[in-house]
Amino acid sequence: MTDLATHLTKLDGHLARFRETGVLNHIAGKDCAGAGGTFETVSPVDESVICTVARSTAVDVDAAAQAAKAAFPAWRDMPAVQRKKILIKIAEGIEARAEEIALCECWDTGQAYRFMSKAALRGAENFRYFADQVTSARNGEHLKSPTLMNVTTRTPIGPVGVITPWNTPFMLSTWKIAPALAAGCTVVHKPAEFSPLSARILMDIAEKAGLPAGVWNLVNGFGEDAGKALTEHPAIKAIAFVGESRTGSLITKQGADTLKRMHLELGGKNPVIVFDDADLDRALDAVIFMIYSINGERCTSSSRLLIQDTIRAEFEAKLIARVNNIKVGHPLDPTTEIGPLIAREHFDKVTSYFDIAKQDGATVAAGGTRVGDEGYFVRPTLFTDASNDMRIAQEEIFGPVLTSIPFSTEEQALNLANDTEYGLTGYLWTADLTRALRFTDKLDAGMIWVNSENVRHLPTPFGGVKSSGIGRDGGDWSFEFYMETKNIAFAIGDHKIPRLGV
Ligand code: NAD
Repeated sequence: MTDLATHLTKLDGHLARFRETGVLNHIAGKDCAGAGGTFETVSPVDESVICTVARSTAVDVDAAAQAAKAAFPAWRDMPAVQRKKILIKIAEGIEARAEEIALCECWDTGQAYRFMSKAALRGAENFRYFADQVTSARNGEHLKSPTLMNVTTRTPIGPVGVITPWNTPFMLSTWKIAPALAAGCTVVHKPAEFSPLSARILMDIAEKAGLPAGVWNLVNGFGEDAGKALTEHPAIKAIAFVGESRTGSLITKQGADTLKRMHLELGGKNPVIVFDDADLDRALDAVIFMIYSINGERCTSSSRLLIQDTIRAEFEAKLIARVNNIKVGHPLDPTTEIGPLIAREHFDKVTSYFDIAKQDGATVAAGGTRVGDEGYFVRPTLFTDASNDMRIAQEEIFGPVLTSIPFSTEEQALNLANDTEYGLTGYLWTADLTRALRFTDKLDAGMIWVNSENVRHLPTPFGGVKSSGIGRDGGDWSFEFYMETKNIAFAIGDHKIPRLGV
């Protein structure tokens, strides 16, 4: 197994280019600086400056949107098989540079290598999956009426804006950009300001794969200027957004004047419900994995454990032992399970809940402390003796922090599970099939796993309800967002046309 020292040496080589030029924008096939100067991206490991990043303003966004608009007709009209070939080449380029992507991503975001090495390859899978759909994406239906043959077809909506967050930024960017390109849209991508490195590598890979200039443009910068300008630009027809619920609301307002189509993938406070008849060893593994992997910075994390009171003491005791054993360390150490949180302000937010939990009367049963004096490391944390009305049960903490809440009956579990403003995922552990059917039918969530952790299958719909989002990705749902459906009606005879003014 590659060790930390080897990873650090390799990382140093990969960062050389970024140190030299900074992270540049890429508009109409050309690298360019941002009109707003630069800002610095910092590693959460030791708070050192990694490199400068182009700080874009509305001027850069306008150039990128105009480039995407100009490139759109040719990309839309390119034969599907040709577009498919380019997307497959991008997937191959990602696979060839998966290690570099993972190393840079870990250093930039603090995510542990053991998870990011897989995230890079999942990015390639996203391109392969949507490449396979390119040739059929425009196919429609024949809907015959007594007088007309109706034919539906789909056409790409036009240039789209993609705005992504800093948790698993590489994987999430591919998840949005791959279907947009497959549909025939052109793209302006605004990655999160905290994690710009991997989006730039992805852009390079796409260019090398033969993507025509202007089809995919990259503008770096902050949400309130570059991001805002993108959501307001008249040439941009839709915004695919992943981020916080309150930002989703802001974006909806910003896009209102230009009637933007919006797809919003937002926050979560997802319940994992464990009944006493479940396979408790598997449930324990899944509960731990779904909150403490990816630093708990995961929209689908199960951050609320609803545990039946009959098994609560035993389950929580086992949980505490395992949580205390989780290895926090350098993200590039392959044995590390939790790395540092993304940034100072997020670290301050997550650690503030350690006091909030105590003030509200919960018990800090594990963790609740930072690790070391440098970087943004925290111990994985478990709150027990909590109730669902506490802030630790209602607010998205977005760190390795689990709140455990007891219940006695199925009805009570369901009420607790649904008593939240969010509705992204739910996880249910029970051996009773009828209960599982009944419970999942009533649980407010876009995605539910029964007796399983979150296992993603690309053809299935991904998205949330309530404050967790609007719209679905995955399979054909992605194309529904990036394309317009058109109906064309052909008369099949001389049907009677109403005559006026005769
Ligand atoms: P964020 O909302 O702060 O930022 C996300 C992106 O939006 C960034 O690129 C940011 O620059 C941009 N942005 C901010 N303000 C903007 C504005 N006014 N106009 C346009 N763009 C703007 O989110 P974050 O802190 O980067 O990410 C964490 C959040 O993302 C969590 O809430 C998490 O649950 C959510 N998330 C959701 C999913 C999902 O699929 N539902 C997946 C991953 C993350």
